[in-house]
Amino acid sequence: MGSRVVMLGRQGAGKGTQAVRIADALGVPHLSSGDMLRAAANGTTELGLVGKRYLERGELVPDEVVVALVAQCLTTPEASAGFVLDGFPRTRAQAESLDRVLRPCGVEVVVALSVPVEVVVARLSGRRVCASCATNYSLSAPPRQDWRCDTCGGPVVQRSDDVEEAIARRLALYDAETEPLIEFYRQRGVLVVVDGVGDEAVVFDRVLRLVEAATALRLSGRD
Ligand code: AMP
Repeated sequence: MGSRVVMLGRQGAGKGTQAVRIADALGVPHLSSGDMLRAAANGTTELGLVGKRYLERGELVPDEVVVALVAQCLTTPEASAGFVLDGFPRTRAQAESLDRVLRPCGVEVVVALSVPVEVVVARLSGRRVCASCATNYSLSAPPRQDWRCDTCGGPVVQRSDDVEEAIARRLALYDAETEPLIEFYRQRGVLVVVDGVGDEAVVFDRVLRLVEAATALRLSGRD
């Protein structure tokens, strides 16, 4: 099995953007639990409708709902050559479920993107996103025309969970539930911490260099 990468970091740390680029560089799928849940929320399945209520409030969707969705994606033939997971796991129980789904291989590299809280609050409140294809924009880097997506022409909007109250709730949940996973993966020797402040391309170079180094180390059996 190829690269099995997990991206950790506060909301607004640039996880999604970097996960797309890393997946592309490694030639593996980018699997975002947020995108899966938003797609499910637009459908009519029971799973999607349950998730929608939590999504809109910026609360964590119950573990069993997210685990079921992510496990479906991880067990497809496309993901058998590796993947970059973005937004999952977010709780200790999800991390343990991920171990079970990936058995006997486990996660290979966990990238923790480190960005101070005041920087992510500014990024999140200025973030805008295409409602059709999920391309990210911001107030300082809007689409070329009239808030229509440069890629697909869809409407570019503010996510309902990028408003002030929901941002505060999501960041508090990150500190309580997700931040402890950094230590969980550090103890397993799979964690790399990357400074996520700076130009997107510069951060990408940092991430890619560390992911490649961690993968090579493991392949050579020296870790
Ligand atoms: P994201 O796009 O990663 O910021 O996720 C958006 C929202 O989807 C979150 O605020 C949660 O409501 C939900 N969500 C995404 N991933 C998870 C997860 N692993 N566990 C629980 N809820 C999640």
